[in-house]
Amino acid sequence: MIAIDHLRCSYCGGCVSVCPENALTLAETRLTVNANCTECENCVFACPVGALHLPSRANAPRPAMRRQYDVIVVGAGPGGALAAEVAARAGLATLLIEKRQEIGSPVRCAEGVGAAQLAEFIAPDPRWIAAEISQLEITTRDRARAPLRASGGRGYVLERRVFDRALAERAAQAGAEVRVKTAVTGVLREAGRVRGVKIRGAAGDEIAIAAPIVIAADGVEAQVGNWAGLDTRLPLSDTMTCAQYVLAGVEIDPTCTAYTLSQEFAPGGYIWIFPKGQHTANVGLGVQADLPRAADPIQLLTRFIESQPQLARGAPVTQIVGNVPVALSPARIVTDGLMLIGDAARQVDPLTGGGIINAMIAGHLAAQVASEAIRAGDPSANFLQRYAERWQQTRGQKLERNYRLRAKFPAAQRSDERFIQAFALAAK
Ligand SMILES: Cc1cc2nc3c(=O)[nH]c(=O)nc-3n(C[C@H](O)[C@H](O)[C@H](O)COP(=O)(O)OP(=O)(O)OC[C@H]3O[C@@H](n4cnc5c(N)ncnc54)[C@H](O)[C@@H]3O)c2cc1C
Repeated sequence: MIAIDHLRCSYCGGCVSVCPENALTLAETRLTVNANCTECENCVFACPVGALHLPSRANAPRPAMRRQYDVIVVGAGPGGALAAEVAARAGLATLLIEKRQEIGSPVRCAEGVGAAQLAEFIAPDPRWIAAEISQLEITTRDRARAPLRASGGRGYVLERRVFDRALAERAAQAGAEVRVKTAVTGVLREAGRVRGVKIRGAAGDEIAIAAPIVIAADGVEAQVGNWAGLDTRLPLSDTMTCAQYVLAGVEIDPTCTAYTLSQEFAPGGYIWIFPKGQHTANVGLGVQADLPRAADPIQLLTRFIESQPQLARGAPVTQIVGNVPVALSPARIVTDGLMLIGDAARQVDPLTGGGIINAMIAGHLAAQVASEAIRAGDPSANFLQRYAERWQQTRGQKLERNYRLRAKFPAAQRSDERFIQAFALAAK
């Protein structure tokens, strides 16, 4: 029977159409082969990436890649891509590794950002701006009839699929090598110090790639930090479990992001409606993972949408689920040869769950420190601690304040005036 190399397979479906025996089935990203297979090898010849073979024959090797860099960045989200760009611009031999086959996809985000903060890193581009925002609205149980409506500061709702790729393209243009569909499976250590990463090779083997500095930007599912001995475990009480639909055909104000603090539909969290044009919006909610609730987030979201006449007639064109860390950063975000950034370092605003800009700020700072460390020939934790200190001054203190604020306002008191004001400030 034909064997499938799932690491190589790009789920294009080309093999399915040439199989004379209906032996292949493609369901989203799962390709399977059944007992009808006669080993005719049509699929092997049709596969553009060499992901199918008779087990008796070896696969062709992938093109060779370098095995030594100055900096390896793991994860091509906004944090990692910006870090790779800054490192490459500083003249460092930089490798950006992403396990997904398409950077930016699938989207796990409501895509809201502040315009001024973003402009510090990249000029606005209509290709990745779905909506321009000028107001925000906050509704609570007490304010159901008169929601707080305020000028929100200018903001955008992005097209992350395009935005993340644009950032990675800039990194490539700056000279970084970018590898997609390449998963980091471990870190290389030498005398207790991180010296690079291991990636999974085409034959399922592990390949070592060396660099004096690794920037771990591997998102909420972060493992690289753990492999390097840092404690990045996330308490359930500091996790928001989220569900979102992109709803088409809804009645919304296309310039306003709307937040609803509701114990009924989003215990410990909130519901958002972020416009993506005149009649389309990201409508989602996050619930604190450890709180008792009547239903799962998708059911809660469905019920909320059904309760809102302006949303109920909308059609869900995309369903998204994902978790947001609303935790304090780990006590240590650097070790010898390694820095954690973005969601991997839990650098998300605990009040709003916003993490795009924070990841970019951290990526920028980490890449600058990487460049200084390479020039000084000192990638030790002592040196890299500069990054942790700069992060703390730039953003860390504010996030810690918001973490304490969130904890002080138990779910039932979410309509507290002070909390609403703090929330509005964080959401701007
Ligand atoms: C439902 C939801 C709504 C959100 N809404 C907003 C919002 O409106 N505004 C906002 O600012 N933030 C929002 N966030 C948070 C925001 O998405 C994240 O904070 C942001 O994406 C963090 O960027 P990052 O670069 O740290 O990580 P990510 O964007 O998560 O990127 C990490 C990358 O690392 C890759 N990776 C992981 N492990 C490996 C590995 N072993 N090898 C190779 N690659 C690996 C992943 O595939 C991924 O591409 C939301 C999050 C969720 C879940």
